[in-house]
Amino acid sequence: MTTDYKRLASLNKEYVWHPFTQMKEYNLSDPLIIERGEGVTLFDVQGRAYYDGFSSVWLNVHGHNVPELNQAIIDQLGKVAHSTLLGMANVPAIELAAKLAQITPERLSKVFYSDSGATGVEIAIKMAFQYWHNRGLKSKTSFITMNQAYHGDTIGAVSVGAIPLYHEVFRPMLFPSHVIPYPNAYRHEGGAEGANETTLRALRDLLEASAEEIAALIVEPIVQGAGGIIIMPQGCLREMAALCRQYNVLLIADEVATGFGRTGTMFACDLEDVSPDLMVIGKGLTGGYLPVAATLATDEVYNAFYADYEEQKTFFHGHSFTGNPLGCAVALASLKLMEERNMVEHVVSKADFVARKLAILRHFSHVGDVRQQGLMIGIELVRDKATREPYDWAERIGVQVCQVARELGMLTRPLGNVIVFIPPLSSTEAELDKMTDILVESIFTVTESSENL
Ligand SMILES: *Cc1c(COP(=O)(O)O)cnc(C)c1O
Repeated sequence: MTTDYKRLASLNKEYVWHPFTQMKEYNLSDPLIIERGEGVTLFDVQGRAYYDGFSSVWLNVHGHNVPELNQAIIDQLGKVAHSTLLGMANVPAIELAAKLAQITPERLSKVFYSDSGATGVEIAIKMAFQYWHNRGLKSKTSFITMNQAYHGDTIGAVSVGAIPLYHEVFRPMLFPSHVIPYPNAYRHEGGAEGANETTLRALRDLLEASAEEIAALIVEPIVQGAGGIIIMPQGCLREMAALCRQYNVLLIADEVATGFGRTGTMFACDLEDVSPDLMVIGKGLTGGYLPVAATLATDEVYNAFYADYEEQKTFFHGHSFTGNPLGCAVALASLKLMEERNMVEHVVSKADFVARKLAILRHFSHVGDVRQQGLMIGIELVRDKATREPYDWAERIGVQVCQVARELGMLTRPLGNVIVFIPPLSSTEAELDKMTDILVESIFTVTESSENL
């Protein structure tokens, strides 16, 4: 086992370039090498066990190595692993599209497949752009995004991204987008109400001035993920949707992180009865098993492309693995399990349990804010609780906390000074109990214990 670890670690260092990772620093540490998973636990090649406290980067729904999901893939594998949707169809892709149209907000009725959240966002952006083009409104070409938005790492998705640390270096190669503030109650003097007001005023002013050159607004509904698990105060999303409708601008909901029960409803849009024009889903769609994403559109969007071939209104876009039968089969199995096990309902009670467990953090002198929507939790650490002064980024307080959590047996990844806790939806209360204990202990160890000695 140990020699195998050494061999793998050395090959890893020699050949693998890791995403979102400064390799110079990573290569100084002993890499964590995962070998297998069972339920909400991952095991490394040395046999150590870790709770998957971030659902393997926000994907996992039912845990790992789930018999029903494994079987769905095996069954499909005995038929065909891949065939294309370019000009033909396959059985699981059809079944899944029908299911998605049924469970997503009411106006969404057409499903366009891809293979990652970023490609799903590219598709939504291009669809919105060409929608207006096909309708003869060729000036509607730009997009509105929100401060600290994250929509994936391809160039179009980065163009509607607004996290300077990730995106600024690429600015010269991006198309420009309008940016309005995401309502952040913790960082707004006026609290939730003030934050909503600022956002809605900015949106209204922008639409009033420029709606005729704007194709769409793209938003992470209710929870802004990579920007720091920021929770949109009540009412804002609904108002934003109404403004878009009023000013003839499409609404794109990026539910890649929030979809499939994560926020306590099937989709975050459901929390405010919002039905967007385009919706992007990914991550949890296959239970976190295989790379399938989808962009859903209304009939109205679809019909703008529906024409005689000579009119040149076709959507010329596609990916090699679009509608992959293995991925669609496991997505169907995942949705079936979610229904059979009433998982979305259980997210609400599990979220209450987690909230009670994390209440103690309010007494910590470096916990500024505990943000939670369903089983999406962000804990913002601050140097000074009274003034809300942040820790300096170079201190990397978040990295330190996650390092201690790993030593205590739970994996997660911070977003700057925000500790992320996004457990698999299948986590039991007993498991959530242990995971939150580790979370609290690691925050205490890094931010409090030395001062209290
Ligand atoms: C993760 C994420 C994406 C990108 O998805 P990938 O599958 O990593 O390309 C897009 N939007 C949101 C909101 C996300 O959280």
